[in-house]
This record gives sequence, C-alpha cells and structure tokens, in this order.
Amino acid sequence: MAERIPEEIINEIRKSVDIVDIISEYVQLKKQGRNYFGICPFHSENTPSFSVSPEKQIFHCFGCHAGGNVFSFLMDIEGISFQEAAIRLAEKANIPLELKTTSSHMRLPTETEKMMRAHELLRQFYHHILVNTNKGQEALEYLQQRNFTREIIDYFQIGYCLDEWDTSLKFLKAKGFDEDILEKAGLIIRGEKNNTYFDRFRGRIIFPISDYKGNTVAFSGRVLGNGQPKYLNSPETPIFQKSQTLFNFHNARVAIRKKQSVVLFEGFADCIAAFSAGIENGIGTMGTALTEEHIHLIKRNTDQVILCFDADMAGQNATLKAGEMLSNAGCVVRVAIIPDGKDPDEYIIKNGAELFKNVVIGGSIPFMSFKMRFFRIGKNLDNEGDRLAYIEKVLEEISKLDNAVERDIYLRQLAEEFSLSLDALKQQQRKIFYSIRRETTKDNAVKQQKLSLIKQDKKLPPAYYNAERLLIAHMLRNASFAMKVQDALKQVPFHIDEHQAIVTYLYAFYEDGNAPDLSNFLNFIQDQHLKNIVAEIGMMTISEEISDKEFKDYIKQISNYHYKLKIEEKIEEGKKAEREKDFIKAAEILKEIIALKKSL
Ligand SMILES: [Zn+2]
Repeated sequence: MAERIPEEIINEIRKSVDIVDIISEYVQLKKQGRNYFGICPFHSENTPSFSVSPEKQIFHCFGCHAGGNVFSFLMDIEGISFQEAAIRLAEKANIPLELKTTSSHMRLPTETEKMMRAHELLRQFYHHILVNTNKGQEALEYLQQRNFTREIIDYFQIGYCLDEWDTSLKFLKAKGFDEDILEKAGLIIRGEKNNTYFDRFRGRIIFPISDYKGNTVAFSGRVLGNGQPKYLNSPETPIFQKSQTLFNFHNARVAIRKKQSVVLFEGFADCIAAFSAGIENGIGTMGTALTEEHIHLIKRNTDQVILCFDADMAGQNATLKAGEMLSNAGCVVRVAIIPDGKDPDEYIIKNGAELFKNVVIGGSIPFMSFKMRFFRIGKNLDNEGDRLAYIEKVLEEISKLDNAVERDIYLRQLAEEFSLSLDALKQQQRKIFYSIRRETTKDNAVKQQKLSLIKQDKKLPPAYYNAERLLIAHMLRNASFAMKVQDALKQVPFHIDEHQAIVTYLYAFYEDGNAPDLSNFLNFIQDQHLKNIVAEIGMMTISEEISDKEFKDYIKQISNYHYKLKIEEKIEEGKKAEREKDFIKAAEILKEIIALKKSL
C-alpha cells in the first residue's frame, strides 16, 4: 500500500510542474489568448473544446465537462490513484518522494513491487531476444508469416524466450532476485528434487499481459509449430488474477474514452488481430467468463460495449451471459456477428481488415436482436409448440427493455415475422411487462427522477443558477469575498446541490488558512463531479472586481428564489389547514406568508 504523501510535498509538486507541459504529452495544445486549446482526450470531437489555463493551472472541456488540475488529469487519463499521480509528477519535478514519505526508515520494495519488476525486466529481455538476436530469428519469421508487423510486435511488446532450462532464472538472479519471489510470481517452477528450479516459459513466443495500470503482471507463451499446450499462461499470483485482468486495457483506455465504446473479445489473440485491423478500443478477457470486477473497470470509462466472441455455441452462450451482466449494470450492449462459425482472428485472416472493421464491428446489432436470433437456435419454428415457446421468450425479453420505442420496434418485427396481430402481441407483452415492473417499481422511480433532472437541464437555466455560478467564480479568487457571501447567505442555501457542496468545501478551504488557488482547491475536493464543475466555473471569464450592485443583485436572486419556494410551501400548508377547517392554524400561516413576502 502506498503511504500518504504529506500535504507540503503535494504542494511542492503542484508548484513545480506546469499543467501545460504534462497535458502536452497527451494532447496537442495551441495557444489562443490566455489559454491553450486542443482536441479533448476524453471524448470524441473534431473541433478543439478542451482548454488549459496556465495561469490557473486547470483544464476544462466545454464538450464533455471533464475538468480538474494536473493531478486529476493524470488520474483520469492513466486510470491511476491520486497517490500514483503524485508519484509520477514528483519524478518529473525531481522531487525525491521516497525519502520524504517515509518518516523513520527507508522503505524496501514490497513483494508485489518485486514481482512486477521481475516481469518488467523479463518483458524487455524477451522482446530484445525476439527482435534483436539470431536466436529469435525463427520466432520472428514465424510471427511475420502470421501477419504480425514490426509495429504490432513493438506495440504489444511481444517477445521470445529461449528453449533452455534456466535462462530467465539466471537473468533475474543476476539482477538480485531470489528463487522464492520468482516462484511466487509464477516465473519459475520448483523441480522434483528440492531446490532445483527451472523456467516456466521455454521456447515460446511471449505475449506480456499487464494490469489496468500498465504493469506487466503475467505472460502467455505460444509454441512455435504444433507442440502442446498451444498456449501456456502464468498461473494466478498475488499480482495476476484473471477475474480482474483485461488484456490491452491500459493501452486501449484513451481510445475507449475517445470513441466512448469498447470492443470486448474472448482472448488476447483476437484482440491483437483486431488491433491490426484497426480496432484500437479492443480489450480481451483472459480465457475466463466476464466478472463484476471486469464490468466495474469497463464502466469507469464507457457504458457502450460491443461483444465480439467466437461464433461457436460456447461463444454464443458466453455472449448471452456477458450481455445480460453488462445490461444489468446499465451498459448499452451490441453484438458483432461473425459469419460462418469463425473466431475473429480466423475471420480477419480470411476476409481482411476492412470487412472486419466495417461489416463485423461496424455492423454490430443491438443485444435484443442478438437474443432474438439466439433463442431460435435448436428450435423448429415450423412446429407450433416451438414457435409459441419462442414468441413467449422473446416477449419476456422485450418487456425488460426500458425504452417504449424500442419495445415497439421488436414487437413489430415479431408480428411481421409470424403474421400475428400487433395489438394482441402488445396486450400480451403488457401483461408480462407489468408483472416484471411490479418487482422493480423502486428502480424505476429512481430512473424517472434522473430523467426529469436531465429534462430540467435542457431548459434555460434560471436566474439564481447564473447568480450562484458568478458568485462562486469570484469566491474562488477572493477569500474575503467568500466570507462576505457566507455572511450574506446565512439563512439561505445555494439552490443547486453541487454549488452548495462546492461553497461548503471552499469555506473550509479558506478556514484552513489556504490562499485562493484553483489548482490547490481542486486537490482539496474529493468528488470528481464537483471537480469538473469547479474547473468549469474557474474557466469563466469574469471581471477582476465585483461591484457592490452586482453582489447585491446575485444575493437577491438567490434569496428571492428561496423565499418564493418557502411561500409556495406555506400556501399549500394554509390550503390544507382550511380544508381541515383548522382556521386558527390557517391564520397563523397567513401571517407567516406576509412576513416572508416582506423578506422578498
Ligand atoms: Zn471533452
């Protein structure tokens, strides 16, 4: 576990790096006025709406509303924690972090770090043997015959391990690793006789496998020719769990974010073949079923998933299962259909990259359409019993769809194909629909709420919304002004929840004795959503000073709306009292209303 980095050091790091330099490593930035602009790495766009402010040391995208400081940028683009981002930035700024983070002792590398280091060194070693040495020549030719270009070999860091008993062991021992840790890391195997060890991988083409942060954590070795097993994988170790590993995830992350979709394959071979066919947002499971951990990892980056599994029965069953899990997790799932019972790799070899990219992936179908195809496998639809069972099953699936338009489309398809009355089908489907819905009304209430929020968003923002934003913009630059606002709005909250949360953080930030500093404040806030909003407000162009009249206007807009809500509430209460013939209470409420109106 990484230790907490003291705040002084975080501040030192923050002051020593320039956000423009760091972001320039990922985005081509052009200066325009005070700010820099570029194509956003977090969403797909053609005109630059991603802006970086060197003055404020923050970034903000006007398209997808991503925003934050240099730490959050690295966290987001590399998928790493705050601590990890701090460590990388410290390296760039030449701030010796390790010495300062440990209070009393020098920290020794943990077992995990040693295992990863051993993998890292071996990855480089194997790759070097493949591309630079005579001994790797045969393997290199073998790969080239199979359409692996030099670019692909470098990109995936493919390597070759010699057909000898202990080359890797000797190599790593010379680097100071002992047998215990290497055995634990799955790199060597203990022989029958005690204390003799030999390499796990011998005479194989090596495909490195990395975790979501890009650390090499395992290998898969393929035989040249026809030996068995065809693929030999690292065993599960403290640093490698198949249930948490997605091949190529770290490399594909930027493409996934950009395209806002991911293509999921069943193994790394398909993933590499698809990459060479131009699919850059492809990832693969490691020969296991999809897990909740995998889905969690995917969902942090996109909720659009295209499944591209083998066309055989096992692959189709796996597609159904993975599709259900992803849909339940709120993903929009499509399925790429590979003709003729092939797997993606075979298809690409036979039909070429263009067809794969444009027809198979480009022509992927909605998950519901896949299910309509899937459920007819093994059924004879000329037989009435089979046909009815099929229709019933499809109706049940249609009922699970949230979208009424979608439900209608599939009902029509069904009606047309089996020459049934659409109305009768709809009636039947509604019955199923309500019996399912009754169980899930709660979920729906939440969804409805979200929907109405989205709808509200599209309307013109009310006056208090702009007032709140402008006040916050000035409060971010001026601590005493923030205190003035706090005094003026003692009884009245900001109406937008996020705004209220931001000012609460901001008051605490100033009370801790911090000076106004956007980038520093962004570290102070934990919530990514709030960070985005702060960066957005921070990027607003505002006058240096706020006049007294402006200040009063904004306060008035916020408090007037507050009192208006209160009055409406009281009017309702008064009506209720009258209905209940409680006239004394009604009179009291009326008094309160008059007092409230005076506050306006
Ligand atoms: Zn964006």
